[in-house]
Amino acid sequence: MSVRERRHLLILGGTAEARILAERAIAVFGERLHVTTSLAGRTRAPAALAGEVRRGGFGGPEGLAAYLRHTAIDMVIDATHPFATQISPAASRACRDTSVPLLLLARPGWSPEPGDRWIEVGSAVEAATILPTLGRCAFLTIGHAEIEAFAGVVDVHFVVRLVDPPATPLPLGSYQLIIARGPFAPDAEGRIMVQHAIDVVVAKASGGDATAAKLMAARQLAIPVLMLRRPEKTHTNRVGSVDEALSWIELENRQPLEIER
Ligand code: NAP
Repeated sequence: MSVRERRHLLILGGTAEARILAERAIAVFGERLHVTTSLAGRTRAPAALAGEVRRGGFGGPEGLAAYLRHTAIDMVIDATHPFATQISPAASRACRDTSVPLLLLARPGWSPEPGDRWIEVGSAVEAATILPTLGRCAFLTIGHAEIEAFAGVVDVHFVVRLVDPPATPLPLGSYQLIIARGPFAPDAEGRIMVQHAIDVVVAKASGGDATAAKLMAARQLAIPVLMLRRPEKTHTNRVGSVDEALSWIELENRQPLEIER
């Protein structure tokens, strides 16, 4: 039996919510909580984070379970992006195998408003198939990983927005890059769309405020949005806000401290 005064929270990060959670958890719980945020290590210059930071994959669910044991993690909050589809099931499995409490912090999704013209699709491949029927100049705002799906699309010019410049040319016939990190403002998004004669937007249904401005601009300009649906996450415990996540930490902090794993 080991009794430690200070609990250790692991935040699986890579989102604004994870960054805010780390900052607020340290402010609220102070010395009672040790906070480590884990980043996949994809972004070249991630925003500064409060608390400890580790970078890079764990090596699947087994690697994550080993990390949880060796680092004596008491609780995990999966605050990864809604479209991060591998780390979330890995967290579920690793936490189940190590009996570490797990919470999903998932920002609420967006809902269409009057004037929106959203075409919802299940994947980037499906979006690529439909795209030429919707427009000739697409604002592609889905990140780097799934751009390959659009490689075979002809007769569409792409304006691609990424956080980091790509290491190699993109596999697209005709494109130009915008390198920028959110949050974005509706007016500025509208200017991009007008300046580039955008006639279709391709977006992930990520939710959150930082990237919602493009949807407002598309609504104002009556531009259709090809919206990639969110993949399912299966966590049992889930909340939609940092405040609720802080309440969960408070409850976990009241549980008796534990038996060595
Ligand atoms: P993913 O497909 O779920 O993860 C791929 C692999 O990257 C995982 O198997 C894991 O490697 C590693 N990984 C992912 N998130 C990690 C984390 N927070 N800490 C340590 N390792 C992590 O995720 P993704 O879609 O590539 O996204 C990678 C990161 O970027 C995530 O942290 C996510 O929050 C952030 N992000 C993603 C998107 C998006 O659209 N997908 C957008 C914005 C931010 P091992 O198997 O080796 O453990």
